[in-house]
Amino acid sequence: MTTGGQTLTSILDARSMPSDRLLFGLSNEQLRQALQGFGLLGYRIRQLETALYRQKLADIREVTTWPKELRERVLAAGFALGLPEIVEIFRSVDGTERYLIAGRDGQTVETVWMPEGDGVDEGNSELDNSTAQAPESKAWSRATICVSSQIGCAVNCQFCLTAKLGIIRNLTAGEIAGQVAAVLKRHGAEPGRDRINLVFMGMGEPFLNYEAFMDAVRLLAGPMEIPESRMTVSTSGIVPGILRFAQEKVRPRLAISLNAPYDAIREGIMPITRKWSIAEVIEAVRQVPLRQKERVTFEYVLLGGLNDQPEHADEVVKLVRRAQFPAKVNLIAWNPGPDVPFTMPQADDVARFQERLREQGVPAFVRRPRGRDIYAACGQLKRTAGAQ
Ligand code: SAH
Ligand code: SF4
Repeated sequence: MTTGGQTLTSILDARSMPSDRLLFGLSNEQLRQALQGFGLLGYRIRQLETALYRQKLADIREVTTWPKELRERVLAAGFALGLPEIVEIFRSVDGTERYLIAGRDGQTVETVWMPEGDGVDEGNSELDNSTAQAPESKAWSRATICVSSQIGCAVNCQFCLTAKLGIIRNLTAGEIAGQVAAVLKRHGAEPGRDRINLVFMGMGEPFLNYEAFMDAVRLLAGPMEIPESRMTVSTSGIVPGILRFAQEKVRPRLAISLNAPYDAIREGIMPITRKWSIAEVIEAVRQVPLRQKERVTFEYVLLGGLNDQPEHADEVVKLVRRAQFPAKVNLIAWNPGPDVPFTMPQADDVARFQERLREQGVPAFVRRPRGRDIYAACGQLKRTAGAQ
């Protein structure tokens, strides 16, 4: 474990702390309940929310909008703010950073920061694995944070490295929103001012941890001020989750990991298809009331020779037409990993696939792999180093 002494101590502190005394992750109502013994008025709770979710403070003693005496009483009762802490950083030559963030039991969660625009280094910097050092200046004009919803995953897609872990545990709402808070704090990013996008495409299947995931979304869209239209959740096609999602007032955009043009191929790479077929998934997606100009994304991981040929593209076109909702396709060249028996697609097959969709009127984009050198690319999150 490469964490410094200071960090290790705080992880151990967090581990021995009863989790009902950690305040980060609680809604206004939950904060009120947790602190009801202190006789606080509404504005004190709002000040605490600002400290937690806007200022992202790490220590109750820093909440200077509260009188010192109140801070001390709350601290003495064993409460802590509980902002999750980054314990390890891997920095890619392309500016992408991958983090291990301490969960409440000392296990680590993975999160990825992908800056875009302005001075983002396109490939010259040295690989730098230091933890302590903060970025020196703002070299990005917008950024995307890739957030995990579980440690490991139960879905068992054959091409995905996270699947190799199995499901270890669900993350709490605080641990999900906390990944975003820790990363925003590191970069001095403010969602009110900076263009921050969130993608729930890290480790895990968000719709198999539905409640915590949606509680996190409400914190992120509410006190953390990230517009719901800047968030995208990706699911492997958990139909009951999609149907619940369809009822939500505040919700991210939806992406479906399609990855195959029809069930026979999909069953081989995503066994979940035997539980819910592509047609059932699409029927569920149809229940989601889309906002103006909103499109559903179909993600499609291209696996060399398996699902990347022109006839597959033609089937995808038919499928998108049958779906009858506004949609686009994001093509992702498979990112390789150890012990995963697939091959990367040829570059010209990728280009041909995209072209074939486009010429038949289906919007299609090729997703650039980010941070491959630090195993931060899609599907590569597998707790490859550090605090296991
Ligand atoms: N569990 C959710 C979200 C996390 S996976 C889901 O499956 O949708 C996010 C995306 O990464 C999915 O579209 C998945 O198909 C893709 N993916 C998984 N492993 C990959 C790999 N090795 N290379 C490229 N994309 C991968
Ligand atoms: Fe889980 Fe998504 Fe990986 Fe499938 S692709 S195993 S659903 S994380």
